[in-house]
Amino acid sequence: MIPNGRKQCRSRCQVECADSAEMEKMVEINGKTRVCGLIGYPVEHTLSPVIHNTLAGLLGHDLVYVPFPARPGSVKDAVRGADALQILGLNVTVPYKSEVMDSLQEIDTLAGNIGAVNTLVRTEGGYKGYNTDMEGLYRAMQSEDIKIEKERIILLGAGGAARAVAHLCALKGADTVYMLNRTLDKAEQVADEVNRMTGRNVICPILLQEYHRIPEGRYLAVQGTSVGLAPHDDMVVISDPAFYKRVHTGFDLIYNPWETRFMQLVKAHGGRAYNGLKMLLYQGIIAYELWNDVQVTKKDAQVVYERLKAHFGVS
Ligand code: NAP
Repeated sequence: MIPNGRKQCRSRCQVECADSAEMEKMVEINGKTRVCGLIGYPVEHTLSPVIHNTLAGLLGHDLVYVPFPARPGSVKDAVRGADALQILGLNVTVPYKSEVMDSLQEIDTLAGNIGAVNTLVRTEGGYKGYNTDMEGLYRAMQSEDIKIEKERIILLGAGGAARAVAHLCALKGADTVYMLNRTLDKAEQVADEVNRMTGRNVICPILLQEYHRIPEGRYLAVQGTSVGLAPHDDMVVISDPAFYKRVHTGFDLIYNPWETRFMQLVKAHGGRAYNGLKMLLYQGIIAYELWNDVQVTKKDAQVVYERLKAHFGVS
């Protein structure tokens, strides 16, 4: 308790709740407390506990969320063990989003198409795998009024996250997505899969250094490579000002640092720029909704977002 009888939130940032309606209940672990968690390697730097433990507090759920480091080669055992312990749900992070698929009872169609699972929900016979990254990015974009429908989009990268972005853009009716990657083969493979699935040539693969081949115009650009991730804050995959003059909106999937070099360059050339923290927020919220069969309100989402922002010293 803090003075005048108001409770303090139990997350690391120790933010005092703004009004009593937002006040979290303290979860006291007891015999019925349900457990959710994260498997990945490493997991020490994850912000997911902030999301899920804050939501549990806000919604009064008797639930705790714990990160579990799963050593390379141990994913099958980790999933089997979680099932035996009746762990309600798990998030899955790098490097196991594809590997974990072999250990599941069932895979949601969308996650199967993307080829990556980041959320497991316990069912009768084992876990069902979902991909909430894609829908998380969509909700994040909606919250910033970023349109995908009929847009011409530049997508930097063809790794796990960029694959999900390519699927999202195609499913939500993007006009064309120029997918630029250092390794052209990977971008071509994603383009083949997505274009076959949607029945139209929406993804157009281009070698990264040939970005000048993109037709004239102004684009939404999604930065989906790992270049620029802390501690390499000053790195960016393309630095040519001519490229940024074509970007009206830049969305970097990276959120650490808070403002990436890519975002700085977009802004310097008159565009608006966003980082990936809201994508992280919403992929977590969607997972929480799947585990608990609830709808998280905008107000609660905002409380969690403020809590996440506090970790970057941003108010
Ligand atoms: P990944 O599968 O390892 O893919 C990495 C991508 O970066 C590939 O396209 C790779 O190109 C490219 N790349 C790496 N080093 C490069 C370099 N020096 N020059 C040019 N391209 C380079 O990683 P991922 O899982 O897709 O994650 C990508 C980023 O998204 C990460 O920074 C991650 O933190 C972020 N992310 C954010 C969220 C969120 O919730 N906000 C969720 C998922 C991921 P090649 O194919 O040529 O190797």
